[in-house]
Amino acid sequence: MRLRNKPWAVKLVNDHPESVLQNPDPQEKIDWKNRFKNPDAPLQIEVGSGKGAFITTLAKQNPDKNFVALELQTTAAGIILRTKLEENLDNLQILRGDAADIDLFFEENSAEIIYLNFSDPWPKTRHEKRRLTYKSFLAKYKKVLMPEGHIEFKTDNSGLFAYSVQSLNNYGMHFDFVSVDLHHEKPEIVEKNVETEYEHKFAAKGNPIYALHANFKTK
Ligand code: SAM
Repeated sequence: MRLRNKPWAVKLVNDHPESVLQNPDPQEKIDWKNRFKNPDAPLQIEVGSGKGAFITTLAKQNPDKNFVALELQTTAAGIILRTKLEENLDNLQILRGDAADIDLFFEENSAEIIYLNFSDPWPKTRHEKRRLTYKSFLAKYKKVLMPEGHIEFKTDNSGLFAYSVQSLNNYGMHFDFVSVDLHHEKPEIVEKNVETEYEHKFAAKGNPIYALHANFKTK
């Protein structure tokens, strides 16, 4: 998804370096603890946050946790930042960068959850390496996650879901939760679910939402 360039968003991002890190040098360590009000709170990362409905809701619901929205596009980063400032979310940071560098942006064993929500499907076989559940990405997520950490993945795209199940399984991951119709699961699961913008749009059209939680534990 490419958002139309919004000059106000670019300006907002440029005016708030304390909230948005833009294309940091992957060779330089980011001092995340210093960027959060509560430096020792557990860290969760969303890759490809879009306009940020999911991560800003999570940040609001969980003041005892820290969140990073990792997003390629400046306009999307600006829209997330606007919500962060309006809602005073000092447990949310925005990182404008590429998920391909996630293992350089974060220390090893530093995050408890990595969320992948409605990632671009890249349906052509020749683009397989760009899918965020391709094995090279999984290797990086494994580094960044704590040993007890896990990935949470949602999509409306059956092809990407099938591919991802196979890719995670081939990587030796274990599944804690799999759903091929998340919005029609038991009420306690549905009530806990935080919708993304894409999820809201596709579910309203009647599309099933696929979801899984998976970890790298060895047993
Ligand atoms: N997660 C949001 C949702 O569910 O509504 C947005 C989904 S949109 C289809 C995918 C988002 O991922 C876009 O905002 C895009 O810019 C971002 N994205 C794609 N590839 C990325 C990458 N390699 N690193 C960081 N963000 C990426």
